[in-house]
Amino acid sequence: MRVIERNLTQEEVDALPFDHNLSDGHAFRSWTTAESAIIAESARFFAESDRRLGRQAESEYIRRYLGLGAQSYIPEYFTGLMCYSASMAVEIVANVLRLRGLSVALIEPCFDNIADILLRHRIPLQPFPETVLTGGTAELESLLETLTADVIFLVSPNNPTGTVVGEAAFKRIVEFCVAEEKLLVLDGCFRVYLSDEQVYDHYGILADSGIDCVVIEDTGKVWPAAELKAPFFCVSPRLVDAVVGIHADFLLHLSPFTVRLITEFVNLAEVDHGRYLREIVARNRTLFQRAIPGSFLRTDDTQKLGLAWLEVVADGLDGERVRVLLAERGVHVLSGERFYWSSPELGRRHLRMALLRDPDIIVQASEVIAGLWTELGDG
Ligand SMILES: *Cc1c(COP(=O)(O)O)cnc(C)c1O
Repeated sequence: MRVIERNLTQEEVDALPFDHNLSDGHAFRSWTTAESAIIAESARFFAESDRRLGRQAESEYIRRYLGLGAQSYIPEYFTGLMCYSASMAVEIVANVLRLRGLSVALIEPCFDNIADILLRHRIPLQPFPETVLTGGTAELESLLETLTADVIFLVSPNNPTGTVVGEAAFKRIVEFCVAEEKLLVLDGCFRVYLSDEQVYDHYGILADSGIDCVVIEDTGKVWPAAELKAPFFCVSPRLVDAVVGIHADFLLHLSPFTVRLITEFVNLAEVDHGRYLREIVARNRTLFQRAIPGSFLRTDDTQKLGLAWLEVVADGLDGERVRVLLAERGVHVLSGERFYWSSPELGRRHLRMALLRDPDIIVQASEVIAGLWTELGDG
């Protein structure tokens, strides 16, 4: 029996008051000069907000956001729906899947709330281990051979490991969905952190295939806008009727102010194709890696997120023990087990740490982490 425990977001909520909070993956850092200029203008965006122009502004925003990720904007195929949080999109999708009696092959690991939402709707789950995405074609083929679920639910780049569904694997999975009439859900919330050579056109491939699919996008892990964000999800034609009614149960429309504000951030990022966003994270990653003894924590991710996924390599310690010791010293991170919703022991030695913070916070937290290693007697 699984012990009732708090979920990851509850832990993130508890860590909010602390300076050295590296718990949630949301963007919480100082604005760049250019971002500050947008914030300074925001009273004007507020005054100019007009809900009568909302639909047009949303379409324009979706087109621009997808453009930033080098994705095709295909309104003939995809209906884009705004939502308050990406999790709300998952909740809406889960309702549709439950009503249709569908089962899901869900990527593992992933953030616990995706599995929790689906399970709360009593949707049968089977793991789709992310290792098959990087293990070569034979591993993917043998998983597909045994895959009985009606829906494949992927996150790319994946939270917490940054594992990316490469183009060949994605095309194979889509082809499988065509042949077997599966539905595909893709959560692309971290897509701006992909390097150029890893970007390919999810939307174009999906629209060409004609499969039933949903793609979820978010901006909360990208721009520090005091939790104002403009997530949306894109739904293929045959799913629209089922989805729009449920979506309308939750939301009349997103604030046109928020859509405008985030569109301005997108415009800014377009100037250098989002490079500055990746550089902020890369700098913090370097600061952290420089300070942390490799005999204590080893980076175990692809560097494609605003997060670090760390393996505790020291003997006699696991992720949860290190998390508790760090929390006692004022540094808040998450431990790994709950990301493995089917096989928690696979995450036992891991920690997840946010990098979307100010460099001085990363440096100070790194000092505490290195100090703990010294205290434990091996520094
Ligand atoms: C954070 C996250 C979400 C949820 O985003 P919210 O907008 O905070 O609900 C969904 N998917 C992934 C991959 C995430 O990392």
